[in-house]
Amino acid sequence: MSRILIIGAGGVGRVAAHKCAQRPEEFEEICLASRTIERCRRVAAELPRPIQVRELNADDAGRVRRLIEEFRPDAVINVASPYQNLPIMQACAEAGVHYVDTSMSDRPDKVVYDYGDQWAFGEHFERKGVTGLLSLGFDPGVVNVFCAYARKHLFDQLEAVDIIDCNAGSHGLPFATNFDPETNIREILAPAFYYEEGQWKETPPLTLSREFEFPEVGRRRAYLMAHEELISLARFLPELRTARFWMTFTEEYLTHLQVLRNVGMTRIDPVDYEGVPVTPLRFLKKLLPDPAALGPRTKGKTSIACVFDGVKDGARRRAMIYNVCVHERCFQEVGSQAISYTTGAPAVLGARLILSGHWARPGVYNPEQLDPDPFMERLGEMGLPWGMEELNPSDPTQRTPAGEKAESETRTP
Ligand code: NDP
Repeated sequence: MSRILIIGAGGVGRVAAHKCAQRPEEFEEICLASRTIERCRRVAAELPRPIQVRELNADDAGRVRRLIEEFRPDAVINVASPYQNLPIMQACAEAGVHYVDTSMSDRPDKVVYDYGDQWAFGEHFERKGVTGLLSLGFDPGVVNVFCAYARKHLFDQLEAVDIIDCNAGSHGLPFATNFDPETNIREILAPAFYYEEGQWKETPPLTLSREFEFPEVGRRRAYLMAHEELISLARFLPELRTARFWMTFTEEYLTHLQVLRNVGMTRIDPVDYEGVPVTPLRFLKKLLPDPAALGPRTKGKTSIACVFDGVKDGARRRAMIYNVCVHERCFQEVGSQAISYTTGAPAVLGARLILSGHWARPGVYNPEQLDPDPFMERLGEMGLPWGMEELNPSDPTQRTPAGEKAESETRTP
């Protein structure tokens, strides 16, 4: 029986709170803490049993530490924004408490794609005998575990992975992001880096796209994007020669984004507005719909897969591991759409595995560094069943279920 502290009461925090509350035999006491306590109270009121709520500004490691000392959690699930990762990790390292988050840490004034500051906590966590688990949402997160599983069970030599992410659902609004707008827009508009033939390469954002056949949702065009899991996968699975991330967007979404970028509304540097410094993207976030409120409006499916290439028993093999999630079903269960669901459920599973001992390993780890089996065995019971499909290895351009051809690559100037 454990005590769990969840920090962040947005869409993902709500899912994490529901998933913990569903398991009283594992999570005896739950505390939900966030910047705006009203949001914690709203989530608490939906849950099947009472939890504690606290107001917390997690930018301040000292305040996080004081809450940890007061509530005495066994583990902290951090689902606030990526700007709070470092202070929350610091507090956990000092207090000797297990830690799980769902994204790479970032800075408001600069897009940083680097785990260095988080990995640097490794020694502190090791000394305290506790585990820090980084970026365990879906992507990054579950897809990293899919890669570890493929390497362990499907390939002798795992050479390439394409992570393909399609949200085929619709919320019916002209423009809204499915998670924190600031993080979402920053990552889409960052230069698209990728790892190919053992080298890091880069293209301007949204210039390279390709069609993929997604499980259960069909053929869609997806865009090459920078994504944090590529960094840890290239480091911890050194035999991988290629690792790329692709995401689908609707035309409507891309048009809005282009206009917002062209008029300067996605800038992350402060501009002077009548003597007041205003960061356009942060202001835009205030105007956009709250992702946590999209749950009741979102219909359809998400389909996320890893398409693997490599060698097994001396022969070429291509295979796909995937999950399909239905927005309406997620909403029915926990009051959130599938993007928040597919992020919050894995984070809770990570905490369960640390607390049960399966993943209790002193230090700081990305998910692909740990044994994938206990995670894959329990992913279905967390509401995220996964499937595996063999693809045709004889056609090097094929990224689709065996027998179907669906690839065409487009470069937009
Ligand atoms: P939201 O913006 O909906 O929620 C973030 C929550 O964190 C809000 O409740 C917010 O408070 C709170 N918060 C922000 N700053 C602070 C602070 N200084 N102190 C305390 N609380 C704070 O985001 P999501 O729930 O959609 O996303 C949560 C995390 O999950 C993000 O890190 C995101 O990047 C990550 N994510 C990961 C995915 C993956 O697959 N790996 C996919 C989707 C998201 P307030 O209510 O006051 O604004």
